[in-house]
Amino acid sequence: MKVVAINTHILDYQLDTAFESASMHFSRRQHCLVEIVCDDGTIGWGECLGPAKPNAAIVEVYAQSLIGEDPLQTEKIWLTLYNRLRDQGQRGLTVTALSGIDIALWDIKGKHFGVPISTLLGGRFRESVRAYATGSFARAGVDRVTDIAAEVAGYRREGFHAVKIKIGFDVEEDLAVIAAVRDAIGPDMRMMIDANHGYDYLEAIELGHRASPYGIDWFEEPVLPEQISTYEAVRAGQPIPVASGENWHGRYAMQEPLARRVVDIVQPDICGVGGFSEMRRVADMAAMHGVRLVPHVWGTAVCLAASLQFMAALPPNPPRRKPIEPIMEFDRTENPFRQAIVQTPLEHHKGVMTIPDGPGLGIEINRDALSTYALREK
Ligand SMILES: [Mg+2]
Repeated sequence: MKVVAINTHILDYQLDTAFESASMHFSRRQHCLVEIVCDDGTIGWGECLGPAKPNAAIVEVYAQSLIGEDPLQTEKIWLTLYNRLRDQGQRGLTVTALSGIDIALWDIKGKHFGVPISTLLGGRFRESVRAYATGSFARAGVDRVTDIAAEVAGYRREGFHAVKIKIGFDVEEDLAVIAAVRDAIGPDMRMMIDANHGYDYLEAIELGHRASPYGIDWFEEPVLPEQISTYEAVRAGQPIPVASGENWHGRYAMQEPLARRVVDIVQPDICGVGGFSEMRRVADMAAMHGVRLVPHVWGTAVCLAASLQFMAALPPNPPRRKPIEPIMEFDRTENPFRQAIVQTPLEHHKGVMTIPDGPGLGIEINRDALSTYALREK
């Protein structure tokens, strides 16, 4: 079995309403998919976290080292590609692009052996997972407090057990949003807050103290991802558990935050951390250091399916009769690629997602949808 082609698909969609986090403005959704074709006709799919065109360009660089290789040798290929750009790479786009390739190779491996990737990873600890709703971005010309309160009330009606809201804009306004959200969802539904590294240290400390009485499960990306010591200080200086990791790509980026335990919850994204091969190393590292792992998920159905396969195989930690179950991030913003690009959409039912058990990622790509949403101008 040999790899004969590597194709990238850049999906593009103009949003009806632009939205923004503390660090990003979204007027379009763009995602890069990776398609790997083998000589026996097997095709694998992967996805890269982050800007689509730069990811596609790096995938094309890696592709030169991938043609003719045996796709089942995932570890050997991972290292070969990582070495190819190591001197100028190590983190960021070189790893996000590698993630898309690695996911596609594991999809091929699962299809080759006729089992889901979770089985290849060692077995399925669960067949379904509870999802939490991610939304509540800022929108131009709209009052955040009333807008977000109405939005999260909808998630409660849909049956979600938890919601994550976007902060990091302004401490006072963010606290008003948090209060309105707690009022809208009631006392029992769980709430997480995500600053997308919009605060400095003093703001993060103040926000953490004043938000804590509203019952917050975790405070995500309070400060810049490069500032590991600042994370340590934020964790020590306010009462809400600290979460981060979507912007720490690869095991070397994870090493210091985990070894120093500057976060309570680590959030690797399988499409950014290095695919299945690296994700399980990071999961082992997190378990070794006693840090809970809740994956970051932001992308298309390929990203959802890969995350679900990983979560099926994530061991309970600690092992006990009623274990702490991982929860699945489920982006609720406008994004047709979540559902349209697969034959059977991956949906939640009252806040619970069933994990596919078909070969590989367990999904079938809808090529008509790939054409519909293909980026027109390069
Ligand atoms: Mg986040």
